[in-house]
Amino acid sequence: MSAPILVVEDLTAVYPAPAGFWLRRRRPDLVALDGVGFALERGATLGVVGESGSGKSTLARALLGLGPAAVSGKVYWRGENLRALPPEVQRERRQQMQLVFQDPLGSLNPRLTAGEIVAEPLRTFHPRMARVQIAERVRGMLKLVGLDPNHLNRYPHEFSVGQCQRLGIARALVLNPRLLICDEPVSALDVSIQAQIIHLLKDLQAKMQLTIVFIAHDLGILRQVSDQVLVLYLGRVMESGDRQSIYQAPRHPYTRALLNAVPWPDPERERRRVREPYGELPSAHELPAGCLFHPRCPFAIDRCRQEKPSLRPWRDGRTACHRSEELALGSQTALPADKTG
Ligand code: SF4
Repeated sequence: MSAPILVVEDLTAVYPAPAGFWLRRRRPDLVALDGVGFALERGATLGVVGESGSGKSTLARALLGLGPAAVSGKVYWRGENLRALPPEVQRERRQQMQLVFQDPLGSLNPRLTAGEIVAEPLRTFHPRMARVQIAERVRGMLKLVGLDPNHLNRYPHEFSVGQCQRLGIARALVLNPRLLICDEPVSALDVSIQAQIIHLLKDLQAKMQLTIVFIAHDLGILRQVSDQVLVLYLGRVMESGDRQSIYQAPRHPYTRALLNAVPWPDPERERRRVREPYGELPSAHELPAGCLFHPRCPFAIDRCRQEKPSLRPWRDGRTACHRSEELALGSQTALPADKTG
């Protein structure tokens, strides 16, 4: 096993509350990430999953040092604690980390041509690079992501949504980064286009030896791309581990709920399937006491309502659940919830 290229420790991100009062109280700050940590090997893919509001996009922004949340914790990139470096060194290091956005069309400037969009990072970070060299690099990137280099004078609206996402990937890769953070890059795409973009990313990962953080709200998509999986709920890590453990023997009830939500490929079976109800996500402004998942958890007992479970190691992963050992051993029906609370 090689040394991790990216190590994150105790990453916390807080959005300050807007000024003013709410129910006669000062609005509380919103803790979007709380003590998140993981380690990722060079060339591997970490899948980050959770519902809307779980802190996935905040994590992407915090890794890249982008606001507006106030961030604390450590991000070690190739052994250096990025957040402790002088700002100009951080900026230089972060060229090695690039972002692919969720909304392919919305993330591209409609007034720039495809060529100008892909060239923009080069012009920003390498202002002395010759025009000929930039043009050559842009044409090469378009070809690499499966776009016709002769279309570099087209505007974003002249491309399909899938082609726009390829353009976004070309823009992210033009600086030859080592880490690609993909923030729900396929959620806005049709299933067939999703498969093409995932195939493209895996192909580029192999060619360019990229390390990838791939964010999704669907464990079905992550199964195709991840080596490791990190499950986030209301900004906290509920479970993490290698792909096989997460999909074959999930220990945390929230991971089970996410797996339960993955649609089956057979439409007939999917139609007849009975889904367990898990209720609504609580407000991030009024977090439950004890385990954050207890209001939705079918296995909650009194202890869960009072005591916050710590994130504990198991096999090669970690889980934050008081009943994880029992859940790993027994079937769901063998673990009745405590009905006294
Ligand atoms: Fe459910 Fe309790 Fe585990 Fe939380 S700690 S996930 S409420 S069983």
